[in-house]
Amino acid sequence: ILTLFLCASCTTQNRDYTNPKLPIEDRVDNLLNKMTLEEKVAQMAQFVGLEHMKKAEQNLSAEELANNDAQGFYENLHSSEVAQMVREGKIGSFLHVTTIEEANHLQELAQESRLQIPLLIGIDAIHGNGLNRGATVYPSPISLASTWDTTLVKTIGRQTAKEMRAMGAQWTFSPNIEVARDPRWGRVGETFGEDPKLVSDFGVKLIQGLQGTDSDFTDNVIANAKHAIGGGESVNGLNAAPADISDHSLREVFLPPFKAAIEAGVYTAMASHNEINGVPAHANKWLLENLFREEYGFNGFVVSDWMDIERLKDLHRVAPTYKDAFRQTIEAGMDMHMHGPGFTPKVVELVEEGVISEERINKSARRILEAKFRLGLFEDPFVDEDQFENAIFTDQHQETALEAAHESIVLLKNDGLLPLGKNKYDNILVTGPNANNQSILGDWVLEQPEDNITTVFEGIRKVVPEANVEFLEYGHIKSKLSENKFEEARQKAAKADLTVAVVGENSLRYQYRWKTSGENRDASTVKLHGDQLRYIKELKKSGKPVVVVLVNGRPLGVEWISENVPALIEAWEPGAKGGQALAEILFGEVNPSGKLPITFPRNVGQIMQVYNHKPSQYFHHYVLDETGPLFHFGYGLSYTTFEYSDLSIADATLEKGDTLEVSVDITNTGNRKGQEIAQLYIQDKYASVTQPVKELKGYQRLTLEKGEAKTVTFTISYDDLGLFDRNLNYVVEPGEFSLMVGGSSRDEDLIQKTFNTK
Ligand code: BGC
Repeated sequence: ILTLFLCASCTTQNRDYTNPKLPIEDRVDNLLNKMTLEEKVAQMAQFVGLEHMKKAEQNLSAEELANNDAQGFYENLHSSEVAQMVREGKIGSFLHVTTIEEANHLQELAQESRLQIPLLIGIDAIHGNGLNRGATVYPSPISLASTWDTTLVKTIGRQTAKEMRAMGAQWTFSPNIEVARDPRWGRVGETFGEDPKLVSDFGVKLIQGLQGTDSDFTDNVIANAKHAIGGGESVNGLNAAPADISDHSLREVFLPPFKAAIEAGVYTAMASHNEINGVPAHANKWLLENLFREEYGFNGFVVSDWMDIERLKDLHRVAPTYKDAFRQTIEAGMDMHMHGPGFTPKVVELVEEGVISEERINKSARRILEAKFRLGLFEDPFVDEDQFENAIFTDQHQETALEAAHESIVLLKNDGLLPLGKNKYDNILVTGPNANNQSILGDWVLEQPEDNITTVFEGIRKVVPEANVEFLEYGHIKSKLSENKFEEARQKAAKADLTVAVVGENSLRYQYRWKTSGENRDASTVKLHGDQLRYIKELKKSGKPVVVVLVNGRPLGVEWISENVPALIEAWEPGAKGGQALAEILFGEVNPSGKLPITFPRNVGQIMQVYNHKPSQYFHHYVLDETGPLFHFGYGLSYTTFEYSDLSIADATLEKGDTLEVSVDITNTGNRKGQEIAQLYIQDKYASVTQPVKELKGYQRLTLEKGEAKTVTFTISYDDLGLFDRNLNYVVEPGEFSLMVGGSSRDEDLIQKTFNTK
């Protein structure tokens, strides 16, 4: 496939940058010296894939156009013009290239350009490369966080990188390491939840899986730490609305995952849509330069989010013109402009006018070119179409997706109905809006080949082939059901021996109209949408047992359900093998073991409700409602039970450089094998600034046979015990700490000891 087009002027020049034996730094120098200003700025320009654009040219609705079209983009530019720009070396990167043919086609166009600089192709491979058809779709990030299994997420990163490279992309806009504490925000499902440590750990392991752990990215992809910062805590949970967050909260809650990602070598970062404390992230020098580069040591490049530089003018109104928006963002530390024309000519003008230095442009171009060299793109930018089928949705990848789904599903309530006896129910009714479709895949996926996906209904049919399993259509989540429909559901449930009702949310992007959560689908409520609750009430009237399964990306206030049905399961968005995993859990082939990475409030008025709240949060209580959460962070049941005992601390006073060894005995006291996630929390009892009542400092997933006991040990270092003092310096203060270990963050699930720092 690789054809070398050698242009006349190039052959006479020294092309050392094409020599793979030279150090990358020298190759970048050599190349930069040959590039015109326009070519360098072009490296900073990213465009959307041609196929995507063609579709958009034809199919976008008025709403979508308004959303995407800050510059009349689709009206004024056509894919043929973009192709010509690639031939002329005027584009450095593409996003959303969704077929292998297109990826190769674009790279061929780039090979026609003067310097033959390959394109960097980025995509939102958030839980597998699901924006391509046929990829393995793993459970969504909030599900993965429910596994508390960072080894598994690293494996998923590795497999995703392989599938991406096979499909022609080398850069994923993942992980989303925003700390999500507001369930109204539609994007909770693409995060790892509410705890800074859990989010940091999952982010780091995913980055290591995607990028590998050294500087050679040849068989890997580059990752992206996004979005900086505070987008999950915007006003009223609305995506892109302002975030006003104290310096303390930024440092304690929202920034640790970014610091950890940078220390783990994440190659790119993305700014968030929102303004943060009055300054839009895309024009925020304090964030991108002072904090990320100078304080945290970030060496990669920053990409903007979709149309957000233009929104410095159009939305935030801190720039009167696009040209000024480009100036502000580059001065703040931005390296690449995502999506849209207009950027390169204006930035060239800014340099020619002496407003931005060429040196500044060189820095960005260097960072981007270095990635292309490290990814091996100068050696071979193409992908082999014959190898593609063998690399994606492999047996091994499917097994990982299934294992992740098993580990992520959280049993929230069980009155003894579960596990269901395999021979006990001859007639099973499966119903609800998420019972038999691809909503189990979650956000950031295209419709996948039917054969690749096991829906909940199909999963149940496979696990109990002898039973008569009937599916009753509900419609989509927002549906208003007729009285006849309720009647039909009641009657069918009465005839069956058991009903499994699969309700929740729909995050599928290709079902734009029916999408109730995911990006740009925020909610003013944590209730189930539409008629879903009424539907469950009708099913329950049948007098037969009803199991409720939630398929959703954000916590829901399902108080009535948890009080009135015998069994409730949070399946999240469990991915391609989700239906199989769920059925195996329902019928006891697999013992559930997931634990919540985010608190479930009872109602919207309780937001924000997090386990690591400050001591005064519940000093007073609500007049009418209960004050505490519906389900606590770290909570999740098993078909067996675990008992914690003999908590011991090796050395009860810690000094700088010390570590604290903690051990605890955990016994499986039930009557079947199970996996438990042991959690360790601390509280700094008295401190100079208020401290959370609990902070997660360690966790371990372990398997215990029936009756088996194991001693689990945790190690905490002195430096883990610090806080940001009144001057925002990170210090460990002397004094007493509580140490709590158990199976959830709920007080009654924890046993305690104390220790001291000197
Ligand atoms: C999202 C980003 C995403 C980008 C490209 C934006 O709307 O906020 O997370 O990477 O689109 O798809």
